[in-house]
Amino acid sequence: MTAVKTTAKAMETLDFVLPDFTRRSWVGKAAQDIWELRFQRITRAWQEMEWLAVAAGLRACAIVIVMPNTFVQQAGDWARHGLSGIPIEIQGVSSSSYSSSAVPSELGKPFLYRVVVGTPQSVTAFKNAWDNDNHEKIGRLLGYPSCCHQFFFDVWVERGLIDTTWPMAIATAPAADGEHSVEVNGPPEANILWRWMGLRAVPHLPCSFTCQPTVVLGQQFIQIGRQAGYEQEMDWLLEILSWPVQWSALHGIAEIKTPLVKVSTRTDATAHEYVVRRPGSSYPDEGATGLGFPYQTAAKLRRPQRQTTRSAHPDWYAADNGFVSVTAMTKAHEPIVAAVTAVLSPHGGSVLDLGCGNGALLQKIRRANPAVAPFGLELDDGRIAHARQLHPTFADNFLTGNLLTNNAIWPPERQYTMAILMPGRLLEAPPKQADQLRQRLRTQCDHILVYTYDDWLERYGNLAKLAQAAGFHTLSDDDNATASLAKIE
Ligand SMILES: [Zn+2]
Repeated sequence: MTAVKTTAKAMETLDFVLPDFTRRSWVGKAAQDIWELRFQRITRAWQEMEWLAVAAGLRACAIVIVMPNTFVQQAGDWARHGLSGIPIEIQGVSSSSYSSSAVPSELGKPFLYRVVVGTPQSVTAFKNAWDNDNHEKIGRLLGYPSCCHQFFFDVWVERGLIDTTWPMAIATAPAADGEHSVEVNGPPEANILWRWMGLRAVPHLPCSFTCQPTVVLGQQFIQIGRQAGYEQEMDWLLEILSWPVQWSALHGIAEIKTPLVKVSTRTDATAHEYVVRRPGSSYPDEGATGLGFPYQTAAKLRRPQRQTTRSAHPDWYAADNGFVSVTAMTKAHEPIVAAVTAVLSPHGGSVLDLGCGNGALLQKIRRANPAVAPFGLELDDGRIAHARQLHPTFADNFLTGNLLTNNAIWPPERQYTMAILMPGRLLEAPPKQADQLRQRLRTQCDHILVYTYDDWLERYGNLAKLAQAAGFHTLSDDDNATASLAKIE
C-alpha cells in the first residue's frame, strides 16, 4: 500500500515518543478576546455537524466524543433524527483540547465515551468492523475518501507515525530547500493544519492539501453547518483556514504558528527540523505583525485588498445579484462552487462568469481554489465596479457589456478553462446572437457549466430541460441538480 508519493525524503524518525500534550498561546489580548469565543463556537458547531452529516446521508457513521453527563440528552437528539449510538471505547480526559492519540482511562478518574452514531444497521456494521480491525470498512462507513483512508493506513498504521503532516505535505508539493521544507497551497477545505485547535472542515486526515474528494466533502460539511444555522461559524472557519500557517517539527515537538495563536504538540521524533508552510490568501485584523512567516509586516497589513477578506459584507453584496439575503445567495451559489471546484481542483485555471453580477460567485470559487483566475462580464456598470472591489488584483478582468454581443471578453487568442452561464439568457436572445455565443463557448472554453435558480426551474421543470431548450446537453445524472457541466448539442 503506497498512497504516499515520496518525492522528497520520507521522515527519518528517532525511536522515542513524548507523552501527549497540546499547549496553545495567543499572540495578544485583542486576538484572544475576539477569536477564542469564535474558535469555541466553531468547535461546538463541528461536533454537531459530525453526526448531522450522518442524518443528512453524507456518510453512514460518525464517531463522536460524549461526556457521561450529556449522553442521555445526546442519545435523544440522535433518536429524533432516526439515529442511534453505541459506545465503542472509554477514554481518559486529556488536559488539552486535541490529542493525536486517545488518553487511556484510569479507574476513578474522569472519562469520556467514544460513541459511533448511525442507523441501527450501520452502527452494527461498524461495531463488527471495529472488533475485527477492518480498517477499510471503518474508513468507508465514516465516509472518508478512499485515497485519504489508504494514505492514513499507510502512514499511521503501517509506518507507525503519529503525525501525518509531513507525508501529506510532500504528497502535495516537492520539498524545496534540500529536503526538509515544503510550501503547500490548496483549497481551505483541505487545510487540516488547524486541527490541534479543533478547527477543520473535514473529519478525516486528508492525503494531500489539494485532495479533490476532500474538498468536495469539506464543502458538503460546510453546507450542512450552514443549514443547521451555523452560517457565521462557517464563514469564520473558511476565513481561518485561508490564513497563513506554519507547522514545524523537531525532536518530537511540533510547533504550529498562525497569525493569532501558537500551538505546541507532540509529533514524531526527528533529529532534523521539518517545516510545512501554507501561505494562505488573507490575514486577520487582530493577527500579530512581525517579520518571518507566517506574520505580516505593518506595511503589508495596510494593503487595500484586505477588505475583501473581512467577514462583514457590504450591503450591496447579495442585493446586486438579485438575492434577498446573503444566506439565500450562499445557498444558491453552493452547488455551483462545488461543481466548479470538483472540475478544476487542484490545478485551477481561468473561469469566465457570463452575467457575473458583482463577482461574489467568482470570489467564492477563488476562495475554494486560489489557483483560479476570475473573468466576468456584466451589463450593469455599478455591479462591475463592485466586482473590481471584490477582486482588486483582477480588476481588469471584469468588463461591462452585453453577454450576447460583447467581443472584448473574447480576444481570439484567449481560451478559458471554464465558462459559467445561466442558459435562460440564451432563450431571451435573438437566435443569431444565441448562436454566436454558443459558437464561442464551444471553441474558446474547455468546460461549460450551466446553472439555474428557482424561477427558471419552475418554468422548465429541471435544469436539464432548461439547458436543452437553450441548446445544451447536461452531463449530470442528478435530475434535481441546479448546476452541471454541459456540452453544446
Ligand atoms: Zn485523498
